Amino acid sequence: MRIIPTMLQIYNSITKQKELFRPLEEGKVKLYVCGMTVYDFCHMGNARSFVVFDMVVRYLRVIGYDVLYVRNITDIDDKIIKRARENNESFESLTERFTDNLHVDLQKLGLIAPDIEPKATGHMVQIITMIEILIAKEHAYVAENGDVYFDTRSFADYGILAQQDLDEMRSGARVAVSDAKRDPLDFVLWKAAKEDEPSWDSPWGKGRPGWHIECSAMSTEYLGPQFDIHGGGADLQFPHHQNEVAQAQACGYKFANYWMHVGFLQINKKKMSKSLGNFFTLREVLKEYNPEVVHYFLLANHYRSPLDYAKDNLDVAYRALERLYIAMRDLPDVHVEKDTAFEKRFYAAMDDDFNVPEALAVLFDMARSINKLKAENALAEAAQVAALLRQLANILGLLTQTPEEFLQSDEDTSAIEALIAERQQARADKNWALADQVREKLDVLGVELEDGQHGTTWRKK
Ligand SMILES: [Zn+2]
Repeated sequence: MRIIPTMLQIYNSITKQKELFRPLEEGKVKLYVCGMTVYDFCHMGNARSFVVFDMVVRYLRVIGYDVLYVRNITDIDDKIIKRARENNESFESLTERFTDNLHVDLQKLGLIAPDIEPKATGHMVQIITMIEILIAKEHAYVAENGDVYFDTRSFADYGILAQQDLDEMRSGARVAVSDAKRDPLDFVLWKAAKEDEPSWDSPWGKGRPGWHIECSAMSTEYLGPQFDIHGGGADLQFPHHQNEVAQAQACGYKFANYWMHVGFLQINKKKMSKSLGNFFTLREVLKEYNPEVVHYFLLANHYRSPLDYAKDNLDVAYRALERLYIAMRDLPDVHVEKDTAFEKRFYAAMDDDFNVPEALAVLFDMARSINKLKAENALAEAAQVAALLRQLANILGLLTQTPEEFLQSDEDTSAIEALIAERQQARADKNWALADQVREKLDVLGVELEDGQHGTTWRKK
């Protein structure tokens, strides 16, 4: 694998342009990604963000960086309290169950686990300390209702991640919900507990932290007052990330140098949301599709572009992977020799703000080259290209199965296997006519059989 020097450029949401990536410390990258609020299954929008940062971590490691990858778990908030009440269970049992579900689903998808996965409820000391600093520096105030708010007017740089005009937002905001705020854009740092709510002791009485402060407190706890990359979904850019950076910088921390945002997952060009009823969980999609197909689908568009979820697009992802696996089929595993034009193009694409569509185009050119070499019976050369194809695809977390595993795993597998069993029974019964009939049926399904000493194997043509 390649060791830097690299010309990696990353689009920074703060400057709204691609910048040459320069880590704070040579050879090291500190990365914080906003994780999930664990009151339900991971949905496809969350999954897209996690798949993208998995690719980012893999690539940074491959080009030689020592990456420290932190992704948090939000395990206390209003939605969690509400859901736990509806279920008549403790918030702890709810959040533990959905944290486990998240881990199972992401592992199935083939993602690498973060190095540190901090939970909000495990970091009350850090959160409270940060709020105390903000109050001492007069960037936060205790309101009459007992809540603590961040004073957005006190912080001159408030709005660097906002996509809209702040004064327009202020005039549009409804203050009625909380008269306790000095300004409609002020946001809660500490929420005073109502009766029967989970709560923690603080200098301002029993309560719980706001969502934004937990990420500022946990990222600086593990990565320091300044770190390299902060990432998350585009829906988090404002207000969540704006509030994170405001809190940290108001404390005197420099915070993240590069901000990366992953585009929306849309359904028929509309944002996926529970209220619109067009909502898909990763788990239900994984029930229908090979996990690698789902992984490919979530990765194949450029990470900053919107991605349209549709069954057709998952089928396209299946056929794309199928092309790559068919090219690799029947070739021996060989050691990769360097340093081909394909490899250079692949790295150039990835260095250009993680341009996965371009990198995938290189892989398809490689598949074409392999097929051509196979047709010319140049199998040793074909095996070389195939080994490199696998190595480069692995950088994206793809082509992790054998061609046989993948090509046998689509949805008609059980039907095919039933037919093969029927044919075997017919052969055992010496009913050759029936055996031939079944073989023809399999032929129509595009299945190729190989009768060997140890029984019959099959694959898709
Ligand atoms: Zn966050």
